[in-house]
Amino acid sequence: MKAKRSLGQNFLVDAEYQQRILNAVQPRAGETLIEIGPGHGALTKGLVASGASVLAVELDQELIPVLQGQFAAHENFRLLAADALVVNFCSAIAPATAARVVANLPYNVSTPIIQRLLAQRHCLCELTVMLQREVVERMTAVPGGKEYGVLSVLVQFYSEAVHLFDVPPSAFRPIPKVWSSVVRLTVHETPVAAVHDEALFIELVKVLFSQRRKTIYNNLRSGRVRLGLPDEAAILAALTAVQLDPRRRGETLSMVELAALADQVSAIGAGDAAP
Ligand code: SAM
Repeated sequence: MKAKRSLGQNFLVDAEYQQRILNAVQPRAGETLIEIGPGHGALTKGLVASGASVLAVELDQELIPVLQGQFAAHENFRLLAADALVVNFCSAIAPATAARVVANLPYNVSTPIIQRLLAQRHCLCELTVMLQREVVERMTAVPGGKEYGVLSVLVQFYSEAVHLFDVPPSAFRPIPKVWSSVVRLTVHETPVAAVHDEALFIELVKVLFSQRRKTIYNNLRSGRVRLGLPDEAAILAALTAVQLDPRRRGETLSMVELAALADQVSAIGAGDAAP
């Protein structure tokens, strides 16, 4: 069967790295695990053998009989022939209410899948995933660097991200052009900084990073309407209230500063900002 580029199929063939991922996950009998993109079962085998209840979600119809042939005899294995970008994971694992996620993610959709998983974090407590090293660098970046952006803030707002190890292109077939990394996201019970309106916080972060070379003031001017800010005076009032210099750039703002600004913006939008 030929690997499908359109489905990000770079299969992990190196047994040492398969084992390192399984060691990082430490699957336990009785727990619920979701595997996204099981492929030919490189990781699935170890997950099923642990006795964990495994829900595998695979989009490639051609791989469904291959996976069923290998694992259907195991009572703790369930296969969903579906797109991980539309699956409601919390319903899919019922009656279980919490699961951990394991995946060698299809690189072409790795970021939207991460965003989708974080959106369903109420039933997902930990994600151990492999994706392009460059994306993991962005997920784990700290303020001030060029890697720090919307993905860093979103991931770190909802979880603790730890880079575990890198995987060379030679571990896959077909061989990809780039290195990969395995990252563990441990989902926080509540976001790392308290904000009144999470949707507005996310919108604000997108606005502040929309043009990286621009100052926060200029980005806020461009995104003013999206944030419900009535005019430019309101932008300056919000920045002044949280003691942020309008000439700073989005990438220098810490999570605490972003959260404070989001609360100020939502207060102004609601018409109840402090004078
Ligand atoms: N887990 C296998 C391994 O490590 O060898 C395969 C990993 S391969 C990088 C990605 C897998 O995700 C492929 O099996 C591919 O068909 C599947 N896939 C691609 N897009 C998907 C999607 N939107 N939803 C679910 N599975 C998807």
